Amino acid sequence: MFTPPFCPYRACSNHSAPRRRFSIRHGTYHPKCRAHSVQRFRCRDCLRTFSRQTFRMDFRDHRPDLNPRLFEHLASGIGIRQSARMLGLSLRCTELKFRKIARHLRRLNLNLRKPLKVEASFHFDELETYEGHRGARPLSVPVLALSESRYLVWAESAPIRPRGKMTDKRRKAITKAEKRHGVRHDLSMRGSLRALRRGAELARELELVRLETDEKSTYPRLAEKAFGRGRLLHRRTNSALVRATWNPLFAINHEEALMRDLVGRLRRESWLVSKKRRYLDLGLQLHMAYRNLVRRRFNKDEASPAQWLGFVPRRLTAQEVLSWRQEAGQRSVHPLSRRGTSVERWRPPASAA
Ligand SMILES: [Zn+2]
Repeated sequence: MFTPPFCPYRACSNHSAPRRRFSIRHGTYHPKCRAHSVQRFRCRDCLRTFSRQTFRMDFRDHRPDLNPRLFEHLASGIGIRQSARMLGLSLRCTELKFRKIARHLRRLNLNLRKPLKVEASFHFDELETYEGHRGARPLSVPVLALSESRYLVWAESAPIRPRGKMTDKRRKAITKAEKRHGVRHDLSMRGSLRALRRGAELARELELVRLETDEKSTYPRLAEKAFGRGRLLHRRTNSALVRATWNPLFAINHEEALMRDLVGRLRRESWLVSKKRRYLDLGLQLHMAYRNLVRRRFNKDEASPAQWLGFVPRRLTAQEVLSWRQEAGQRSVHPLSRRGTSVERWRPPASAA
């Protein structure tokens, strides 16, 4: 039986520090989109009512039944328009669902993380893509992954200056883009540092951190700044080296190839583009959740990267990653809980481990 973990109304004292049995059952209702009735509750202090559904990720959604399929489409490199056609939804509805799902998955990714105990070998690299116009508005996407588990720690785009061969047509496009969006500054260092700091957050309890990168000159300073000089073992490899499995950069090259394939808008020669980089970032969050929680580490494995690290006891299904809302940080309901146990309190049932 589901017990609400806290009162959903922020102004209520039972929101941040709920007292025991702060809510009582308050009838049920029958939603049109479900076969079963939904339990309602009332807060004893603020007297407001809410339901089990208030805590679900698909709270207030139309067609919540299509969310898992949409997630699977978008995690498989299918564009938003094509997903809309396949699911019989409007384009606008699909866009809004995508954003809501991706923002939810960003929180889920962060909530399920715990400080690393076993592994602290990171791979870091940047891949290039663009927003709106390939020649005029390029982006750098720093990607940080754990080497053995293949857990994707962070990937978030940063604008860079257009560079490379200039043609008249390209110069015109750059002038036009600058008129419209302002001068493009290179923020790739800031983006890289942000990604590396997400790794430092995960490795905060470890005495030794390994990092594999290519020979870009800015990396040693950024890595030291993020991880601290004393505990960092930074190995740099020439990026021109053959991209085979024995290459020390293989893990990150392989993850980037996977990302290019499964995030449709990163594909080369693709018709899919990001008009704004913040939606590319949402696409990357969706990919990270799929990669870390749903997909196997390798095809021969049973475990997902997050399972490999002990963050979750098994691989999650699309329904499970889209189950409970994650806005309350560690106090949010754990995706595998049926009773409403929070992420910080939830423990796997003894038989399932
Ligand atoms: Zn209340």
